[in-house]
Amino acid sequence: MEELYDLAEFLNANPEAGKHWPGNQFVEPLREVWADGVIDNHELALMERLIVETRREWRRRVAPMEKTEAPAGADLTSGFAASTDSGELARINGPDVRMEVPSASYPGSSHRVDLKASTCDCSDWKFRRNTLPEGHFSRCCEHILYAFEYLEVEDLSLMLRAFLKNTKPPDPEKNWILRDVGYGNILISDAPHGWSDIFARGRDGWGMFGCNFRQKRWKYGSEPEGAAAIIPLIKEEFPE
Ligand SMILES: [Zn+2]
Repeated sequence: MEELYDLAEFLNANPEAGKHWPGNQFVEPLREVWADGVIDNHELALMERLIVETRREWRRRVAPMEKTEAPAGADLTSGFAASTDSGELARINGPDVRMEVPSASYPGSSHRVDLKASTCDCSDWKFRRNTLPEGHFSRCCEHILYAFEYLEVEDLSLMLRAFLKNTKPPDPEKNWILRDVGYGNILISDAPHGWSDIFARGRDGWGMFGCNFRQKRWKYGSEPEGAAAIIPLIKEEFPE
């Protein structure tokens, strides 16, 4: 939401930016969103999707992966995502792969990523994710996500695919569990700032959903399958 206002403000203040990519992607949709003076949930959800897509395209253009050699013959799938007994946090067990990931913020530079240990030498990782236990989903910085996406690991669960495809790295303050609400494991975070992130199946396939379990509210009114079971689950699994 704030992202939207910032974007509109930026485009108004910099009309040149609206003529070129990526600014031109947003001019029309924003105009439509504001046309009736009311921003509804559907419009917000569409804009958020557009922002994620643009972020991915931006990364592709500014920091192409082609320079990096893909590891050959690495075992990419064994024991990828696992969660143990109730109460335990979800773990992501990456493949035994180390690679250079180009930086989208500083074109020309790159970061060293280790997918097995989920480490990166960027400052986001060093200062905000470093102390999380190995396997913690929030150890994934944007470069780790980018490396996973680039490797295009096959046979991943759709849940994991949705998590890795989200260009915005997870909030390092969030903890994650895996739970089955009737159609396979979904990934659920706690809500240190009111909102849980949930990777689950929705009307348009698997993706990220936001849930404020205290207010029993879903972000943009968009609910995944099993929504009614998820709210009490968050309450139970992450007691305050
Ligand atoms: Zn990083």
